[in-house]
Amino acid sequence: MTAYWCEHAWLDPAVMAGSAVSGRVRIEVEDGRITGVHPGVAPAPGDVRLPGLVLPGFANAHSHAFHRALRGHTHDAGGTFWTWRERMYAVAGRLDPERYLALARATYAEMALAGVTCVGEFHYLHHAPGGSPYADPNAMGEALIQAAADAGIRLTLLDACYVAGGLEGTGHLPLNDVQARFSDGDAVAWADRVALLRDRPGVRIGAAVHSVRAVPAEQLPVVARAATGRPLHVHLSEQPAENEACSAYYGATPTRLLDEHGVLGPDTTAVHATHLTGDEITALGATGTAVCACPSTEADLADGVGAFRWLRDAGSPLCLGSDQHATTDLLAEARLVEAHERLVTGERGRFRPAELVEALTAAGHRALGWTDAGRLAVGRRADLVAVRLDTPRTAGCAPGQLVMAAAAADVHTVVVDGRVVVADGEHVLGDVGRLLTEAIAPLWEDA
Ligand SMILES: [Zn+2]
Repeated sequence: MTAYWCEHAWLDPAVMAGSAVSGRVRIEVEDGRITGVHPGVAPAPGDVRLPGLVLPGFANAHSHAFHRALRGHTHDAGGTFWTWRERMYAVAGRLDPERYLALARATYAEMALAGVTCVGEFHYLHHAPGGSPYADPNAMGEALIQAAADAGIRLTLLDACYVAGGLEGTGHLPLNDVQARFSDGDAVAWADRVALLRDRPGVRIGAAVHSVRAVPAEQLPVVARAATGRPLHVHLSEQPAENEACSAYYGATPTRLLDEHGVLGPDTTAVHATHLTGDEITALGATGTAVCACPSTEADLADGVGAFRWLRDAGSPLCLGSDQHATTDLLAEARLVEAHERLVTGERGRFRPAELVEALTAAGHRALGWTDAGRLAVGRRADLVAVRLDTPRTAGCAPGQLVMAAAAADVHTVVVDGRVVVADGEHVLGDVGRLLTEAIAPLWEDA
C-alpha cells in the first residue's frame, strides 16, 4: 500500500459535502486503485507528500497525435482550415509505424506532463502511403498503443472509419492520394479490421465516424453497430462548408443525419459541435450525446465558438480535448471554454470551476469508456494530479478556483493507475523536449 498525503485534494462530492476541496487529505492506494480517502488528517511516516491541489487525472478526450508535428509550422501563410489541412496531409504522408511510435510516445509524454492520465486518440492514419495495408493491418494503431504504454498513460483508440474524400452539394468525392491511407474501402472492411484489435490493461478499443464528409449516410449504421457498447466519437459541425454541403445533398443537418442513422446516444461524443442550429442542440442533449470542446484548436483553425453552455443545459455532458495540440495544456482548454463563452455572451461564470474540473476528469473519462476513473474516491483508479499553488502563476489562488489560473507547467506529480509517471515536473522517460525534437525533425527534413 502507498499513501499520498495531499495539502489539498479535490474530493468526490459524495465524500465531502459543500466545497469539493478538502485540506490535509490522505489517499491510500493499492494495486492501482484508491482504497482509502481521509480528509483532515496529519501525514503518517512514510507518506508521499504531494504539494498544492491534488485533482483526479485529466482525460484528453480528443487527440490526433501526429498533428503535434505541425506546431509552429502553420502560421506563415494565413489561409483557412482547408489550407491548414494541406500542411497536415503533408506530414501524414511521411509517417510510418516506426516514426509514428516515436512521435506519439513523445506527444503522450508531453500530455502526461500536463496532467493527462488517459487520451482518446481519434485514429485515421491506418495504412501505408497509397492505401495498401501493412503486414499487420493495425500496425499504426499498435504503434499508438505502444506509445501510450511507454508514456505511462491509458489510451482509448478511437479507430475512425474514413472512406470518402469529402462532401459537396452533389455528393461525396473520391479519396485523394493522401486520404487513400485513411480508408479501408468501406465500413464493413473497416469493422473487420477493427475487430482484430483487443482491449488490454490500460487500453480500450473504441470507434469513430470521421465526419459526415468522410462516411456516406448508408454506411453510418455499420459503424454504429460495430461500436455497440464502446465509445463512438464523431467530428461534428467544425466548418460551415461541411454543414452546407450536407444540407444540400441530404436535405438534413449533420446532426439529424447522424441521429437518423443510429450514431447518437450516451456512448457517443460529438467533437467540436461548433455551428449548430437550435434543433441540433436539442437532439444532441435529448440523446445524451456528449460534446468535446477543443477550444485552442477551434481558435487556431478559425473554426468558431460552440454553444457549450446551451449544449450542457440541453443534456450533453462536456469534455475537453487538445485535438491538434497547438498547445498541450488541458487546464488552458478548460479555461478557454469559459473565456470564449464570456466573449460571446458578455456574461462571466458561464461554467463554474467545478463544472470545468468535471469536464477535465470524470466526464472526459466517461466519454472514453473509463467509468471507474476521474474521481478521488474509494474503488476508483488511482489517478492523481498534483498542481502547485506556489508558482508565479498560481501563488495566492484559492484552490477551488485553481483551474482558472494554473497551466500545464504547474503540474508537479502525476500518478496513473497507482504508478508515478511524472515526479517534480519530470517525466519517467526523461527530457520530453528532446524526445519531441528527435521525433519531429525527420518529418520536416525532406519537406
Ligand atoms: Zn479532430
